[in-house]
Amino acid sequence: MLAKLTEQIEGVALRTAPAGSAWLLGALPPAALAALQRTRFRQTLRLVNEHSRFYRDEFRRRGIRVDQIDHPSDLGDFYTTGEDLRAHGPDAFLTGRPDTAFETTGTTSALPKRVFFSQHELNAMGSASAAALYVLGLRREDTVLSAFDCSFWVSPAVARSALQYIRCFHVEAGKIDPVECYVHAAAYRPSVILGEPSWLVRFAEIAAERGTWPIKMLVAGGENMAETARRQVQHVWGAPVYLNYGQTEAFGSLGLECREQQGYHRNDLHFLFETVGVDDNGYGELVYTTLTRDVMPLIRYRSADMTRLVNDPCPCGLFARRIAKIRARADEMVVCGMGNVGPWVFDELLRGLRVDGHEWQAVITHNGRRDVVELRVEDVRPDVPGIESMLLENLRERFPDFWKNRDMRLYDLRVSPVLPGTLRQGRKLRRLIDQRFLSSEHVIAQNSGRRE
Ligand SMILES: [Zn+2]
Repeated sequence: MLAKLTEQIEGVALRTAPAGSAWLLGALPPAALAALQRTRFRQTLRLVNEHSRFYRDEFRRRGIRVDQIDHPSDLGDFYTTGEDLRAHGPDAFLTGRPDTAFETTGTTSALPKRVFFSQHELNAMGSASAAALYVLGLRREDTVLSAFDCSFWVSPAVARSALQYIRCFHVEAGKIDPVECYVHAAAYRPSVILGEPSWLVRFAEIAAERGTWPIKMLVAGGENMAETARRQVQHVWGAPVYLNYGQTEAFGSLGLECREQQGYHRNDLHFLFETVGVDDNGYGELVYTTLTRDVMPLIRYRSADMTRLVNDPCPCGLFARRIAKIRARADEMVVCGMGNVGPWVFDELLRGLRVDGHEWQAVITHNGRRDVVELRVEDVRPDVPGIESMLLENLRERFPDFWKNRDMRLYDLRVSPVLPGTLRQGRKLRRLIDQRFLSSEHVIAQNSGRRE
């Protein structure tokens, strides 16, 4: 009864203009939200059990009876992983006829994950994103410039869908060289700019040299952003940078920051969130179940992102609870200015070089301007310049996208030789070390007097 009423309120909210929608959804009491989530979860479970080959087979093999399951945590140690998507292919997950597909641009493997969606889902996600952007201050009179990469990536499609509900003027640049983009952008003087964090940093550098115009906000998506980089971009434009947290598997939008910039307000109407393997500080791997997808629903999907669920009220007053800023990737994949890089990328870069087969480790830091990828290679001979130029040659030939990002000065790549035997500490060698967010979190904790 409560769930039905809530669903009707939501239905009205999402058909209403973004202003009314944000207000209506904010008025939902927590019990109503929980009831709605439970109803939607049970519907989704029945749907996948009837139509998805992967879930039907897995549930049967594990003796799971879906009519006895009320919450994802009742499924015990059953999860869906990115590896499942790759190994079984999208067909095994389909529960309806898809209209479109998007891909993850790179992961721990060279094989992309493909995720299918319906137009109905695209509209629902666009309408929810429109409400979130409205709360941040986006209005019909704004001019939006989107620099999101359009190649198989979900974000431009979700942004386009959201903007049609706001009905504001917008232009799409795609992800081109920030220098070239600046020349076009200056003619439109957009009041809102959307782009990837490393791209926005470079764009701000150019704007600092050539001139800025009044901007309302910048919205960054696609990768995490160091707080130093955020402050730098905000300083140049005199406007806030808000981070969106999403994954292609989640149709781009799991949560969006508010004015407080203290974690992402989560999209509880469309997802049920859990964390697993939680440490003493409450951090674990984020796992989500889709609640409203009709073409390729995902049950307990392991995001591979390490974070914390924040249930305390946010100072901004918004009803939606939060996900803390992502701390690290559970599977060693790092999302940075270079792109989405996993250990296999560096194996491939070193293939055929004189140090091929030597131990290596990539350390990602942030120098205050851009991400720095330092590839440490164990070698007794110190003629690194030779290795570095050959490695760059491999980068150009084997990873055109990463090469392009370097051309745009979205990151620095350098090679450092280290003495043999120094990288491995203990039994396992950590191939990728992301040191960007430990220090920036520390800064936030010091500034705000609390840990997020
Ligand atoms: Zn908030």
